[in-house]
Amino acid sequence: MAKRDYYEVLGVTKSASADEIKKAYRKLAIQFHPDKNPDNPEAEDKFKEAAEAYEVLSNPEKKQRYDQFGHQGVGGAGGFGGGGMNMDDIFSQFGDIFGGGGGGGFGSFFGGGGGGRRTKKGTNLRVKMKLTLAEIANGVEKKIKVKRHLIADGVTFKSCSACQGSGQVKKVVNTMLGQMVSASTCGVCGGSGQIVDKKPADADARGLVVKEEVISINIPGGVAEGMQLSMSGKGNEIPGGIAGDLLIVIEEIEDKVLQRDGNNVIYDLYVSFVDAALGASIEVPTIEGKVKIKIEQGTQSGKMLRLKGKGIKDINGYTKGDQLIMVNVWTPTHLSKDEKEALEGLRYSDNFKPDPGNSEKSFFDKMKEFF
Ligand SMILES: [Zn+2]
Repeated sequence: MAKRDYYEVLGVTKSASADEIKKAYRKLAIQFHPDKNPDNPEAEDKFKEAAEAYEVLSNPEKKQRYDQFGHQGVGGAGGFGGGGMNMDDIFSQFGDIFGGGGGGGFGSFFGGGGGGRRTKKGTNLRVKMKLTLAEIANGVEKKIKVKRHLIADGVTFKSCSACQGSGQVKKVVNTMLGQMVSASTCGVCGGSGQIVDKKPADADARGLVVKEEVISINIPGGVAEGMQLSMSGKGNEIPGGIAGDLLIVIEEIEDKVLQRDGNNVIYDLYVSFVDAALGASIEVPTIEGKVKIKIEQGTQSGKMLRLKGKGIKDINGYTKGDQLIMVNVWTPTHLSKDEKEALEGLRYSDNFKPDPGNSEKSFFDKMKEFF
């Protein structure tokens, strides 16, 4: 079940260049290609593993998310596209790396002349998902409504006569260098090689209907603003191809009292001058509800307290952040006559003279200690 590190899979270091990553993948893809290893499920797994690693590490955006969040950041666990890529995805990826089905020494693997027919994929759907801090902290199951294009029940297809089912039309063009054959996507079937034969009345010309579906998603704990989760095959369907993906873009709803800082949560606590001097038991809010904490007698403004494990789950594992409580001592701004007199009587008391000495660390020392 444990997924191998993508860099380890390709046998490159984290600092490898895009070119080195490409080369490493090309080597593995040739070594483990199914055509070279017929009926060898182990080779096929290796082939898929390498393709998945390359798919992530060759994409700067995904690579960055992977470097930061590991497999979960790129949809590698927690139910998002868990099975990785299918063979169609992998072969369509080859277009970029081997310079198209026809050229290079690799073309033969596709079974000759025609080149690999690229599988068509339906369009992706993208939804935004707003999450509270509590939902982000522990993960949450959400149900969302999406309108998907689905192939209608009862629709039948026949081979496209314009392209003889190949999905491509070839045109011979006369150029300075002689005759060249250019292939383009068939305009009649849109490249699928199939056209609708019979369809129900509510389906469009492509045999598709729009249906509202409720999809439930497990959002892992620790996601962050802008992160994108993907559920493969939950996007729009397409005749003669595979369904697109459902992409879920995370938005954080700002919390009015707790502030997120990575996996930690920061809370600004104000205590009265009296509570700070005499000590007190005070309720503070946390992600999981109120908690009583003890303020020691003689607590100084600027002290930081830590509630271990009261923060946000790490997206890569099972550790949790903490809640940090910043203690601010509140100086009264309005005083009655009696209160003024009482304090006036203490003005020259030795115990009220500031004496930071060595026991009080500076603000910067404290910051160093806590972060
Ligand atoms: Zn066609």
